[in-house]
Amino acid sequence: MSRSRAFLCRAWSGACFFLLLTFTAQGQTGIIASDIKRSVNPCADFYEYANGAWRDANPIPPSMQRWSRRWASGELAKDQIKTIVEPLAAKTDWPQGSVDQLTGDYYGACMNEARINQLGYQPIQPWLADIDGMKNSADVFAMIVRFHKYGIQAPFNLAAGSDTRDPNQVIVDIAASGLDMPDRDYYLNPEARFKEAREKYRVHVAASFRLIGYSQPEAERAADQVFAMESKLAEASLDNVALRDPHNTDHKLAFADLQKLTPHFDWAVYYGSANLKPATLNVQEPKFLQEVDRRLASAPLEDWKSYLKFHLVESAANSLSQPFVEETFNFHGRYLGGQAEMKPRWKRCIEAEDNDLGEALGQKYVEKYFPPEAKARMLEMVKNLRLAMQDTIEGLEWMGPDTKKKALEKLATFNPKIGYPDKWKDYSSVKIERDFYWSDVLESRKFNVADDLATIGRPVDRGRWGMTPSTSDAYYNPPLNEIVFPAGILQPPGFDVKAVDAVNYGGIGVVIGHEISHGFDDEGSQYDAQGRLQNWWTAEDRKRFDVRTQCVVDQFDHYFIEPGIHHNGKLVLGESIGDLAGAKIAFLAFQKSLQGKPPAPVIDGFTPEQQFFLAWGQWRGDEIRPEAQRLMVQTDPHPIAKYRVIGPLSNLPEFQRAFSCKATDAMVRPAAKRCQVW
Ligand SMILES: [Zn+2]
Repeated sequence: MSRSRAFLCRAWSGACFFLLLTFTAQGQTGIIASDIKRSVNPCADFYEYANGAWRDANPIPPSMQRWSRRWASGELAKDQIKTIVEPLAAKTDWPQGSVDQLTGDYYGACMNEARINQLGYQPIQPWLADIDGMKNSADVFAMIVRFHKYGIQAPFNLAAGSDTRDPNQVIVDIAASGLDMPDRDYYLNPEARFKEAREKYRVHVAASFRLIGYSQPEAERAADQVFAMESKLAEASLDNVALRDPHNTDHKLAFADLQKLTPHFDWAVYYGSANLKPATLNVQEPKFLQEVDRRLASAPLEDWKSYLKFHLVESAANSLSQPFVEETFNFHGRYLGGQAEMKPRWKRCIEAEDNDLGEALGQKYVEKYFPPEAKARMLEMVKNLRLAMQDTIEGLEWMGPDTKKKALEKLATFNPKIGYPDKWKDYSSVKIERDFYWSDVLESRKFNVADDLATIGRPVDRGRWGMTPSTSDAYYNPPLNEIVFPAGILQPPGFDVKAVDAVNYGGIGVVIGHEISHGFDDEGSQYDAQGRLQNWWTAEDRKRFDVRTQCVVDQFDHYFIEPGIHHNGKLVLGESIGDLAGAKIAFLAFQKSLQGKPPAPVIDGFTPEQQFFLAWGQWRGDEIRPEAQRLMVQTDPHPIAKYRVIGPLSNLPEFQRAFSCKATDAMVRPAAKRCQVW
């Protein structure tokens, strides 16, 4: 086995670091031997073993909340995009409405910090004046309509959604929104850490009002009004666990009933402005919407003015001058996320542009960084993962033939999307100007809202994407039964056309398995092969499934993050089922891929099976700030990275065998407690 040593330079820090890459005789890359902490026993703590040396050598950069090879790859995509947009922004005479003009001018306007600082909050002054001019609740509602037109989602959100009875149809979907803190517990939970967050929040809200010219006493009064309004909305909102059950957010209504539910909203005005036709729709949280309606009828006008002004300022802050950017960062990034400093401006501009004009930027990105052979390799892996899931379902001892038949039907209808959309969004009507950044943000948001609403009342367009091409992430969408992998996640070290199969199956293969398994987790398993929210299980099989998933709930309930704070097994259940089943079927697919081929190489003394698990441990090897960890455990349905490695692998006999672990080792759950869902 040949080996080569490489010195790589990381653009984010300017520092160079030593990387021991292993190559096979065919020149393929393997696992990263230098990441392994050899002093640790893999059967005692596989997470520490697989990536401990990397984490020791790579502290979290000050501008990040989490750090791993995977996060580094996500940040690298921004360096790559920078090399694309900088030359575009250097020219100012691209044809109006062309992708080059839009992407170049947006970036150029965002990077013109001197001009943005000079304007202060002048860009939002006309809005603030209009809010001050509101005379009654009809004016408040009209302002909410205007907010929504420009993507400011307060105090609720109206967007296109799938009809849960007939997912081929797109309908209006109204969701709860309008809280600036992460979830309802931040407003209501009596624990000290939430109380502290509330105090910090009031200081932040008041400071935001100071920035738009309020005196300190006026700012504090306005902060009280905002807090009172949001607390009422929080009380009427579902918690994170309840939100994971699709039946809790499934309330189909006739348009006339929407008007009855919220008598103080003038929906004719809303629908007229948004160009929507009255038709059947879904209200995710009727109690929440009724509370907004009650507030509209009863809260003092002054409270609404403060509430709307604050949400306007928060929504605009990153497009305004430095004091606004810093104020919102201080609370959301520094206090809640533990981030020591902001990312450099160019990176924030690329993130904003990805959000606002993602498919324009994405076209340029995939041209350069997503070769056609990557798509072909991914399609083959997806095919093998599906076959492995099929074998798994067919072999299940606990599931009866009727349910199995339906599960296999569902598996057969999965729609994989790889890399980027076949048809790009046409942004040519968006007016992007070089000298007025806030206007560019508004125009892009207006386009994105209208583009979304235009799909309502029509058969679903299965070509649309819910993530931008450069995103380092993936998703499963239950009503459309699709698994989606943007080009941004199909990058080393999770996926590499030049890597051995063990690395690709252990990295992106587990992710593919994870997304497929979402179709069969506690939530996804409630949608049938056509994407309808409709039961396809026999009662006995569902009962047996529930017993199996309860095992995973109990496992994660016992993972402590710090004293007094542990994972909420019910909150992370879907993701944990995804990881457990994903690792299992990816391993199976990897085994199948070896059949009929020459033996896979032993690399650095590691068998192909060991390399598979090391690849997962290395791609997931993530260091996280304590603040970000607390926030994640409270609000994120994903477990922290450590338990996304230890949790599933300690349930897998395949892992135990690969590393010859003893039954008494920490990485081997006792047989009575071992979880297996799929
Ligand atoms: Zn997931």
